[in-house]
Amino acid sequence: MSHLFNTYARMPVSLVRGEGAWLYDDQGRRYLDALSGIAVCSLGHAHPRIAEAIADQARTLIHTANIVHIPQQEALADALAEISGMDRAFIANSGAEVVECALKLARRHATERGVDQPAVLVASHSFHGRTLAALSASGNAAIQAGFGPLVGGFIRVPFGDLDAARQAFEDHPELVAALVEPVQGEGGVRPAPEGYLAGLGKLCKEHDALLMLDEIQSGMARTGRWFAFQHDPDVRPDVVTVAKALGNGVPIGACLAREEVAALLAPGAHGTTFGGNPLACRAALEVISVMRELDLPARAAARGEQLMKRLHDALNSHPNVVEVRGQGLMVGVELSENVPELKDRAMERGLIINVTQGNTIRLLPPLIVDEAQVDQIADTVIELIRERFPA
Ligand SMILES: *Cc1c(COP(=O)(O)O)cnc(C)c1O
Repeated sequence: MSHLFNTYARMPVSLVRGEGAWLYDDQGRRYLDALSGIAVCSLGHAHPRIAEAIADQARTLIHTANIVHIPQQEALADALAEISGMDRAFIANSGAEVVECALKLARRHATERGVDQPAVLVASHSFHGRTLAALSASGNAAIQAGFGPLVGGFIRVPFGDLDAARQAFEDHPELVAALVEPVQGEGGVRPAPEGYLAGLGKLCKEHDALLMLDEIQSGMARTGRWFAFQHDPDVRPDVVTVAKALGNGVPIGACLAREEVAALLAPGAHGTTFGGNPLACRAALEVISVMRELDLPARAAARGEQLMKRLHDALNSHPNVVEVRGQGLMVGVELSENVPELKDRAMERGLIINVTQGNTIRLLPPLIVDEAQVDQIADTVIELIRERFPA
């Protein structure tokens, strides 16, 4: 009997070693990684520069708590400000935690405005994490089931529907923020329609509400820009959440905000014991430095185009393929039926993928994949679909 909580439906494989885009199990079998530990290991596995930075910092100083200045945390905030255009960062340990930080900013913004029953606009099919407020914000009944009462103050509208958002702002003067993913990940790899984020930003401005973008999955070069919102120069978020790929596997998240918004949290208003410690920040600094040297946003865009083209060409006319969609190396293939078993079939063929919403193959390979590896991912996915749905 396992002594672990039985909270995950795990595949019967133990991965024990990695190198670049390759993973090896305890039997010595090799797998091509098209998931990156769910958009985390964007630089691949066992990257020598990341490994060395972590080891060096571990030998020097791991943790002090935020009772003192932490130079690595200051440097990381500078680097995040530079790549995002935001002003300040709060560093925490995970995605859900930085979503909590964003939601607390929204509540403080409400307090400043004098709104005493504030609400945040959220989208259908959204995913923001598993803490109580984050799961309450999420548009996913399965992760909320049995955990009531949920945290209140969320108004849900269909993702991508600007008219619905406009109506919600008219009907609900208590709206103080909107929280959306620029590309929904768990929700089925859905990029926001062109102009949606800019339109939402305009609505927020008109109603003195904060535009808060959850880039935990779409950020850090994944979609071909540092952040997905940067594809449209008219999008100016007030708050951006980042996590997953920020530490390439070392747990870390950041809530980024414009100056006036960050100022809503004075000393004592928010905090964390582990968050922003020298070890995690050193890892994240090295991640950004390596990503910059590799010009990784541009590489992700090029490899993403290659992957989308291969999948489009082979699958567009397939009767069981509803849509191939995505941005950069965040790619989804929606099928006409639920296919949870496809991840197991892929594993048998030495490819690690994921299926989300039951019917959408999700591909999030490390951003360092080469052309041949992208071809191998495409070949295997196309074969799996043709095998599952024979003509
Ligand atoms: C993964 C994810 C989260 C939650 O992050 P955790 O680190 O698992 O808490 C939140 N938002 C989005 C968009 C995510 O993809």
